[in-house]
Amino acid sequence: MPEATLLDLPLDALRERMVESGEPAYRAGQIWQAVYRDLVISYDEITTLPTRVRHELKERLPLRLPMAEDAQESADRRTRKTLLLLADGERVETVSMNYDDRRTVCASTQVGCAMGCHICATGRSGFTRDLTPGEIAAQVLHVARDLKREGGRLTNVVYMGMGEPFANYDATLASIRTLNDTRGFGLGARSFTVSTVGIVPGIERFAREGLQANLAVSLHAANDALRERLLPINRTHPIGPLIRACRQYVERTNRRITFEVALIDGINDSPTHARELADLLRGLLCHVNLIPFNPVPGIGWRRSPGERVDEFAKVLERRGVPVTIRVSRGVEIRAGCGQLRAERAEDSS
Ligand code: SF4
Repeated sequence: MPEATLLDLPLDALRERMVESGEPAYRAGQIWQAVYRDLVISYDEITTLPTRVRHELKERLPLRLPMAEDAQESADRRTRKTLLLLADGERVETVSMNYDDRRTVCASTQVGCAMGCHICATGRSGFTRDLTPGEIAAQVLHVARDLKREGGRLTNVVYMGMGEPFANYDATLASIRTLNDTRGFGLGARSFTVSTVGIVPGIERFAREGLQANLAVSLHAANDALRERLLPINRTHPIGPLIRACRQYVERTNRRITFEVALIDGINDSPTHARELADLLRGLLCHVNLIPFNPVPGIGWRRSPGERVDEFAKVLERRGVPVTIRVSRGVEIRAGCGQLRAERAEDSS
């Protein structure tokens, strides 16, 4: 795990650090504002700090931001996928999306992923390490900086990039709390969405956080046999306990859950599958997002044809389950999770 950097610390911890090193506590506020409001990229830009303090900070608490190594933009320029190089040479993917008045960043929480989902490129390339809170927050700041340059402002953060957020729970939550802190970046809690593949203890813990953030669950199938075929984690967290945890989450938070379902041609997209899903979710405060499957290199599965997606949605609607068909964004820039990183790894091997 890399050494702690400035972005890994909440404001209160930074204040303690400043006081311990003989500086006034208000210096922490100056740094925090510069980094999270003015979006500076180096201590040298924080001219409210004496030069001596800037030098000391560089030595003891680096402001380490990842470097953009590669980027691809969709033809309509609304989706941009960036490969960020971390201090130890590892790489993560961050996607920014610009649709319907929303400026969203899709952040990664791990380098690689241990969940091994068969529907995703990251799942096939294995797990390397967890990201620190600072490495997660830095992705958001990177996109916020790009947007600021273009006169825009970030509105949403989704943790749906590489990695399973609840497998790196503490760092994920710490990054949300830092970015939500009104003394700095100040993005409202409702603007965050954490997407899990269904880690039951993570959902239970998230329910107790007292945070108004959103929860999304990648479901993809409503019976254990099929879900296991798509997501091996279903063996550890089968559908029964998963949906029970979701029901308890809603009871406790009164917040709606989004269930993600990627429809794959001939695999999970029949009207019978839709009916089974509607039965499973009956009475639960939720919304289903039907996502077009992003083909993964090396796997023969294809996305479902449009008319079958429409039919699937109609079955859910008829059974009272709110549903949205999500338009594919960025398939032409290989925005399927983990694909850009996988290609870079192939290029350099
Ligand atoms: Fe990991 Fe998400 Fe890919 Fe599953 S879909 S392997 S949880 S990154």
